Amino acid sequence: MEIQYLKGVGPKIAKYLSSLGINTVKDALFYFPRDYEDRTNIKPISKLENDEMASVIVEVAQIFPSKKTKTGKTLNKILFKNETGFISGIWFNQPYIKNNFKIGEKVLLYGKVSKQFGEITLVDPQYEKDYEETQGINPIYSINKNLTQKIMRKIIKQALNFIDQEVEELLPESLRKIYDLLDIKNAIINIHFPKDKNMLKLAKRRLKFEELLIIQLGLFELKKKYSSSTTSYSMAVSKELKALKEKLPFELTEAQRKVIREILIDMKKNTPMNRLLQGDVGSGKTIISVIALFNCAMNGYQGVLMAPTEILAEQHYNTILELLKDWNINIALLVGSTSKKQKEEIIRKISQGEISIVIGTHALLQENVEFKNLALVITDEQHRFGVRQRATLINKGHNPHVLVMTATPIPRTLALFMYGDMDISVIDQLPPGRQKVETYFVRPNMREKVYDFVKKEIEKGRQAYVICPLVEESEKLEAESVIEMAENLKNNFLKYNKIGILHGKMSASEKDEIMKKFKNNEIQVLVSTTVVEVGVNVPNATIIVIENADRFGLAQLHQLRGRVGRGNYKSYCILVADAKTDDAIERMKIMTKTNSGFEIAEKDLELRGTGEFFGTRQHGLPELKVANLFKDIDILMQTKEVARELIQSRRLLDKDYYKLKLRIEELIQNIGDNISIN
Ligand code: ADP
Ligand code: MG
Repeated sequence: MEIQYLKGVGPKIAKYLSSLGINTVKDALFYFPRDYEDRTNIKPISKLENDEMASVIVEVAQIFPSKKTKTGKTLNKILFKNETGFISGIWFNQPYIKNNFKIGEKVLLYGKVSKQFGEITLVDPQYEKDYEETQGINPIYSINKNLTQKIMRKIIKQALNFIDQEVEELLPESLRKIYDLLDIKNAIINIHFPKDKNMLKLAKRRLKFEELLIIQLGLFELKKKYSSSTTSYSMAVSKELKALKEKLPFELTEAQRKVIREILIDMKKNTPMNRLLQGDVGSGKTIISVIALFNCAMNGYQGVLMAPTEILAEQHYNTILELLKDWNINIALLVGSTSKKQKEEIIRKISQGEISIVIGTHALLQENVEFKNLALVITDEQHRFGVRQRATLINKGHNPHVLVMTATPIPRTLALFMYGDMDISVIDQLPPGRQKVETYFVRPNMREKVYDFVKKEIEKGRQAYVICPLVEESEKLEAESVIEMAENLKNNFLKYNKIGILHGKMSASEKDEIMKKFKNNEIQVLVSTTVVEVGVNVPNATIIVIENADRFGLAQLHQLRGRVGRGNYKSYCILVADAKTDDAIERMKIMTKTNSGFEIAEKDLELRGTGEFFGTRQHGLPELKVANLFKDIDILMQTKEVARELIQSRRLLDKDYYKLKLRIEELIQNIGDNISIN
């Protein structure tokens, strides 16, 4: 039913609602509040406690002129009173607010209480003038400035009249009973207008449960479908592996050995491997992929490794060439900037099976790249690819084994969720000798000192990265900022050092040239954009300076920092930022405190929320509306158990699960479009 059908929703309001994604009555019913104001907590002013959320009914006593604070914000203060005392409301950066009040006028205020120096204040409170009608717990919706909470509440109330025809129950009564879940109607009514706190809690729990259960079931079904398919590429463990391991310049860590065993066992099976390899930056994932590709080639099949950047693909190519040079294996590199003639030749050889190991970038995804017997697909830094891109590559083979590698450090429970259709291996140990990368956060006025320090490291024979500010969506501007920064360093701080530049506007051969020089220490300082963000490995580099570090997200900073500390030398990361917002300062502080990718990911989740953290792009799963993967781990684990039980007992096939089953199939269809495993 179209939203316009509701009383009071004309074309104009309908347009505003549409911009919130609300086009139908059903959309409105599922447009859940972002927060609530608890007006059951109306107290005398004198009884208010510091930090509590409270409502007061007061009269406007005095309106003060706007003031500027030390940090440059405008501060507006209004004094209110009632028979129990005085309370002021303060608002930041809302100079117009004083026009909304008249002396003597009665209002209801709702906000967080602050008691300091004997003064009671509500900071940035919500206010309402005709408050009589809205007692109890009231919803607060995310709206834009064209709508008010009052209008929104009215619309939702109206929509609730149609709940019977608009909303269907997916969870059978038997299940609801066992897990103490509200029915869907009660849940929706109470998530909007909770009868009391307890009902709100129950409503949220029911909706989260349903949301997570459906996804878990979808992932399980997908996995079942996947593992029931067969592959004709059952591979023996090559006898040559021993010789390869002896050639390595280092001993594999126990964690690496365990993962290699898991992978070799998978590749031996006649069901395709579908494995996620997680390991923090620098944990040594590359060698795992080399061993898998080698084993594949030794079995007479083709394998492919896709990386997100040309620099990284090239680096992998060189590593693999070097490690496998004693064997007669044909290895090729295919990237966007490979010359047309070379490309044609490589593509021809791939299709005829003359090449056993192919390393490349997105260029591999082109339609004309066809394999003769592709048996192993590996993607490196998977978080940089969409699910669809991975699928395109997989579909170039017939049920090949799949290994996905990522350093996106996510808590394990979340990994289980995100990659629920995959088996997971973790490298939970860094190679020996690694030290914590010492991280500092400094203001720009410290630059001279920073580059003095860089100079000292170079004098010791080490090398440095300088990362230039992120310029939104503009490679050209980024390139300019790199050039400018390099000039500046040449003229001032680092006059006597060899400086190279690297940015996205350079041709592949130019980039390659620079990277080679940097690897050989012919360049001492590499001034670069984030093109070096993932994977790049120059163990002699021990210091990374990140300019305007506050423009980067935590995950990205962690990845950038991962460029150093890759050898046995003590390494440093210096974040230069004129960070102003609390959020930015917090991010810088987290970086200085911890080196653990997992901890950083957790903080990142906390700061950004799950919505942004898991862009749907990454996994093809629907955006979560109520559940929070970070905070609702208990419900997540519970639904996982329930999902497993429903599938194993085949109860999902029962008649009363029919609607739920339909919904899951819909979901699989959507994910399947992206993953299309079979
Ligand atoms: P990432 O997991 O970030 O992809 P890499 O595979 O690039 O990490 O490895 C980082 C560095 O550690 C490389 O220089 C690599 O040669 C080295 N390395 C990998 N495994 C070991 C090991 N077991 N012992 C010592 N160094 C290792
Ligand atoms: Mg890597």
